[in-house]
Amino acid sequence: MSAHLPDDRDAVREALIAWYEDDHRQFPWRRTDDPYRILVSEVMSQQTQLSRVEEAYADFLDRWPEVADLAAAERGEVVSFWSDHSLGYNNRAKYLHEAATQVTEGEVGPADRPPGGSDTAEADGEFPTDPDELQELMGVGPYTANAVASFAFNNGDAVVDTNVKRVLHRAFGVPDDDAEFAESAVDLMPDGESRVWNNAIMELGGVACGQSPRCDEAGCPWRRWCRAYETGNFTAPDVPEQPSFEGSRRQFRGKVVRALGNHDELMLGELGPRIRVDYSPDGDGEGSEDWLRGLVGDLADDGLVEVTDGEDGTAVRLRR
Ligand code: SF4
Repeated sequence: MSAHLPDDRDAVREALIAWYEDDHRQFPWRRTDDPYRILVSEVMSQQTQLSRVEEAYADFLDRWPEVADLAAAERGEVVSFWSDHSLGYNNRAKYLHEAATQVTEGEVGPADRPPGGSDTAEADGEFPTDPDELQELMGVGPYTANAVASFAFNNGDAVVDTNVKRVLHRAFGVPDDDAEFAESAVDLMPDGESRVWNNAIMELGGVACGQSPRCDEAGCPWRRWCRAYETGNFTAPDVPEQPSFEGSRRQFRGKVVRALGNHDELMLGELGPRIRVDYSPDGDGEGSEDWLRGLVGDLADDGLVEVTDGEDGTAVRLRR
């Protein structure tokens, strides 16, 4: 398998950014560009579901609203907070506290800043803005540093995490290889737009291109380029088997209508994989061609679609 990034990168970029800006999950850390708040959210979400992080994040910032407040806290208090909120390894609390101290004392930042502190009051308490410098903070690895650089300073590189790999593999056939993923991710990201881009591609992996994809329901903006959507093969590096798929007949009817909305007409063999990842024309029962004929037959009876048998097979189109 080799990567097939569409030639028209700008159209791919614009489609994703427009989709993200139209609607996305509203997490509180997406409404700020304060590096301290973003660092707290990133460290918390390393091991905890986002829905649970929201409450802990709000409580944490009530207690220590600024980086200097955290630096001034007793380390034991921060660790207790971490345990009380079930946020995973306590070392993360210790590192976060230490990082706050590093920032407050001006120990990190550009190489020309004096080690152990700054000779200018302004430099103390300021976060570095660059991913490499951010990695000087205790407990901050390349991923977190890049996230803070992107979301706080719009100064990051393309994020490559499990979600992003899944999207790139399915959409553009990027092989399961770290160097290939990195190269494709960098190639796709518009210059100087790491904040919106990284948010958008991670949102795509989170709400549309999850392990069980929701291409049509989530209105994925990459359907027209996506190889998985075209072929019906939704496996990915973290999804080695075709993902399980559940849905009622009503949901499948909706999927047929949405799939046809993007095409003048589709043959049954093209329609099946677009509505079920486990479409198996030769099988019997759920997911077979007979099952699909029954489904589109019902929709035809309801006046929603037209079904035409021809020499090349059966074509289905929306009744307009
Ligand atoms: S069309 Fe489906 S499989 Fe392809 S990128 Fe979008 S959500 Fe993922």
